[in-house]
Amino acid sequence: MKSLFVSAALFFAAALPVAAGGPAFDGPVFDTHMHYSRSAWAVYSPGDVLQKMDKANVAAALVSSTPGEGTARLVAFAPGRITAGYRPYMTPSDRTRWFKSAGLLSLGKTRLMLRRHKAFGEVVLYFPNNLETPQMAQYLKMVAQQNLVLHLHSDAAVVEAVFKQQPEIKILWAHAGFLEPAAVIGRMLGQYPKLWAELSYRADDITGADGVETEWKALFMRFGNRFTIGSDTWNNSRWDMYPYLINRHRNWLGALPRALAQKIAFQNAAALLEKAGPPASRLTPGKQTGILARGYHRKHQKYQSPAG
Ligand SMILES: [Zn+2]
Repeated sequence: MKSLFVSAALFFAAALPVAAGGPAFDGPVFDTHMHYSRSAWAVYSPGDVLQKMDKANVAAALVSSTPGEGTARLVAFAPGRITAGYRPYMTPSDRTRWFKSAGLLSLGKTRLMLRRHKAFGEVVLYFPNNLETPQMAQYLKMVAQQNLVLHLHSDAAVVEAVFKQQPEIKILWAHAGFLEPAAVIGRMLGQYPKLWAELSYRADDITGADGVETEWKALFMRFGNRFTIGSDTWNNSRWDMYPYLINRHRNWLGALPRALAQKIAFQNAAALLEKAGPPASRLTPGKQTGILARGYHRKHQKYQSPAG
């Protein structure tokens, strides 16, 4: 009888999602790399997206889209949980030309004048010389003036070039550089106090035999206030695997001290975005205000309808 009980207990233990470093982190998550682009909104309604977030215990998200209409739809549906990033693309191919397009810049000026955004991006810049256009000088000026967080997908050299032009802006480094190793990320965070690193696409690199690779764990211990996590739902197959993408992060987060995991999972993003954006965006009731005060921690928050 006893041995039966023990084997049943072992069976159930094996079935639970326990990472190498301990049980997965189960607290609320702020997804700082969500896209809701045309291909996604054709399939998933804003209600579907919020349902996916609820199922994965994702309390809040920083969203951008191609074109920006997707972001606006999500903000209208759940203003207390969605923070808007402005992405200056109308079509996916704009990713290779936005930084030198006069038409996209003039559209961007009009949209940013509405002061509804807290971040600029996620945008891609390939080389430091992509910054050497008249359009980029104006974009960076607007980012600085409106106190937007620049959500930037690039390597370390481009991040350095941006800080050289605009040392005052805050950068949320998408995928922590995607291919940059932990040593480079550590050097960059040490050198630039206004740099935060977002970890979508990096769970494979971070996950190690004891839950977290040693060099990554050292980074998290040293720069615990400067990391965030994300899903990067840039296509619909990533939307389909949304719980998996979030759970990959929960697994390595579970191997960190809980207070540190809570920061990386949620609090760092909330603190960064709470202080971001032009004054008007902070004063518009019911839109982008009070991330912490508005109950992001509550698991089943009632959504405000566009009318309410
Ligand atoms: Zn992305």
